[in-house]
Parts: sequence; structure tokens; C-alpha cells
Amino acid sequence: MTELAFHNSATRQRETFSPLDPQHVRLYVCGPTVYDLAHLGNARPVVVFDVLARLLRRLYPRVTYVRNITDVDDKINARSLESGEPIAAITARTTADFHRDMQAIGCLPPDEEPRATDNIAQMISLIERLIANGHAYAAEGHVLFSVSSFPGYGALSGRSPEEMLAGARIDVAPYKREAGDFVLWKPSSDELPGWDSPWGRGRPGWHIECSAMSWRYLGTDFDIHGGGHDLIFPHHENELAQSVCAFPGSRFAHTWLHNGMLLVDGEKMSKSLGNFLTVRDILQRGPWAGEAFRLLLLKTHYRAALDYTAERLEEAKAELDDFYALLARDLPAPAEEDALVADMAAWALEPLGDDLNTPLAIARLRDLRTLENVATVGGSATTVLGRIGRDWQPASGQAAAALRQAAAVLGLLGGDAKAWRQGEAGDSAAIEAAIQARLDARKAKNWAEADRIRADLLAQGVILEDGPGGTTWRKA
Ligand SMILES: [Zn+2]
Repeated sequence: MTELAFHNSATRQRETFSPLDPQHVRLYVCGPTVYDLAHLGNARPVVVFDVLARLLRRLYPRVTYVRNITDVDDKINARSLESGEPIAAITARTTADFHRDMQAIGCLPPDEEPRATDNIAQMISLIERLIANGHAYAAEGHVLFSVSSFPGYGALSGRSPEEMLAGARIDVAPYKREAGDFVLWKPSSDELPGWDSPWGRGRPGWHIECSAMSWRYLGTDFDIHGGGHDLIFPHHENELAQSVCAFPGSRFAHTWLHNGMLLVDGEKMSKSLGNFLTVRDILQRGPWAGEAFRLLLLKTHYRAALDYTAERLEEAKAELDDFYALLARDLPAPAEEDALVADMAAWALEPLGDDLNTPLAIARLRDLRTLENVATVGGSATTVLGRIGRDWQPASGQAAAALRQAAAVLGLLGGDAKAWRQGEAGDSAAIEAAIQARLDARKAKNWAEADRIRADLLAQGVILEDGPGGTTWRKA
């Protein structure tokens, strides 16, 4: 795969991707607002852009993937008021839950995960620039972005001024000059989180948070901005307006990628319909469920709407069962730099370069599985080779190695195949127990035993990370 092309939401066109700096690709994705468990719709962009980040890392020397945590928001304040739990406790617990759930569905952590509350100074500085440039005004403790000051407003979402005002005209706040103007900063009463600012004690609006954090970590211009389709308006339209007006001459993100919505049983997920599902609900179905859910997500192209059903989750599990059954065989391991293995893996991954065509890449994984079956147990590869258009004749073990390599870029099939077959894959209780045993060994200064446990886990695809807060683990 030599070339990447994406459908850029901003131009509504397929474009060849050429990074601003081919030595360093920069990606920003809007992260969670931490007040509740992640639901299935929240998980979709995390998985889609995890695959994108893995793909970019395979192709470019350096990638910085930033995904923020929104830990100051009126939804969090409302949850605290309603439950009595302090805001800091809600955001800390929900952030930890988010990390656990995303790890369980095979997502690697982003390179940077800034919290909004650690970037208030950058937000204030951006707002000051917007006021100085004539794009924002202060009124009654608020600062508002003046939409009419930016002729490009609406270009990203392709909405007319009338459409954009549809919701805004109702009950227009007296401090707004125009109904469409949106909040950059708002005053906080004593009981609400607030920071000192030139406009009094207050807190940021949601949109300015992402403009400030992308600026800090990626600069005024960067390669790709991702997020759910539902964020295009107003959130991304507003991020774009703020950033290009604060830095005249800049373009902010050069490529915008948006994933489609997720339905459950054919309907929009809602608590009142009784079809509201969290990632945690899915994970409780068994140790296989995280990877099966990930496969289910990736079997649909990211821009298409995706319908989650329990049957489709079972189908994905059955498919993983087939893959792991193959990988559980004791197959010969090809040499590290086997050219045919590399060719086959590159062929399977090629569709990802075409606007992240994960369904086709997964179909090619199935073809590699067939090739391995033919090489190992016999049969005919004519149909598959006809589809592939090559005259590959892999020896036993080669197609399986290519399958593993290619699947890793999709974040799939990284588990221990024998453990999967025993129903133990992703068994976090067993991993936690091993971590505790290693900790005990270290306390007893039994370094050899501690190292043995770490190596054992690594062989199962579990990577331990020691940090100030203790030991955490992730799948390799
Ligand atoms: Zn954002």
C-alpha cells in the first residue's frame, strides 16, 4: 500500500492524502465528556480512529494522535447536582471506566490525552486572540463568537444560515448580538467549577476546548480531524471557525473524517425505547465480547450507518472462533522477513488505503484463512487465488503469519488462540491475578519470578505498564 485516500467531509470529495509533514502525521479526535459509561455510539469513533492511527503508524515514521477528555461541561455539573457525587469523583471514575472499556475493545491509548481542565490557560489565550481579531465580544460575563464576522461559517457542514439558526432563534439570550453567536466563555456561580479570567470567574464553552487542545498539541494546522457525524454541526463548524479566526491564514484540520451513526435493532439508541446499550453491557456477555464487538464495528464501512444487533455480535464471535481455530494449530513459523508473508499481509491491508475500507480488508483476512487451510490440510485454492489475481502457493504457516500481521493493524486476532478456544481470552480476572502475583514477587525481591510472569503475559499478548498509579495492562 503506497497511497492513502480519504473522503474529506470538508470538500465532500475523495482526496489523496499527503501529510503536511511526511515525517510526522498529526491526528485529532474529539474524546468523551466524562459523566457516564460509554455507550455503543461512543465506541464507534474510538475503534475507527484507532484503526486509522495504527495504519498511519505503519506508513509514517511518526504519528501524534490526540484525543481529549472533556472534564468540564454542564452535563457533568448536572450529574453532580443530581447524584450528590463531587465533580472530581465523577470525572475520575468515568475516565477510568472509559479507559477500561476502550482497552477491552482493543483500542490502544492515544499518544496524548489532554484534559480540558489542564488547558484553561490555552483557552483563555485563544479567546483573547479572537476578541483582538474582531471575531468575539464580551457581554455580561460571557464571551461570544460573532458568527457574522466569519464568512466561511457553515462551509464545513454545508448548512445555510437559516438551517444553522433553526434551533438558535428560540429564546435568544439578551447578551447575544445575533442569535447564531455561540459561547466561548460563560460565568460560573460559586458552586460551579470556575477559573479566573479577564471576563471574571467562569468556565469555557465546549467547542473552544478542542480548538485549544489541538492547537497546543498539534499546532494551528494539522492533518486529520475525526469524530462522529453528529459532531459536524455545531461542534466542528465552531471549532473550525474559532481556530482559523484566531490564526488568520491557517486552515486548522486539512482533512475531516466523520463516522456514521450507530443504530441498535434498527432504531436510534434511546433510553425511552429500551435499546440503550453501554460498552459495559456488551462486555458482560463474555470474555470474547470485546473483540467480537470490535469486529462487528469494522465489518461496516466507517461512513455508513451501522446497525447493532445481538445476532450480529454472535456472528462476529463465530467468525473469530474460526480464525482462532486456525491460529491455535501448531503451524511452522516463517522467517521474520519472509517476502511472501509480507506480500500477503500488504494485499490484505491494501483496502484500508481506500478510505479505510475495513469490510474489504476483513474479507481478505478470510481469504488468507482459506489459503492457510489449503496449505495445511489440503483442498483447492483456485477460487481464492482467482479473486486475488496472484499465483501464490504459500507453505504451511505463511498465510497464517500474514493473517496475524494484517489483523494486527485492525486490532484483531491479537489474543492467545488457545486461550480463546478455552474461553479465556481477555479474561481480565486472570490477568489481574497475574499482576498481583508479580507485585508480590517484586515485594519479595524475587526478580526472576516477576520477570517470568511479565514474559508469560507478553506471550499471551498482554503488555504490562508500570506507572506511579500502579501496574496497568493492555493488549499488544
Ligand atoms: Zn471536539
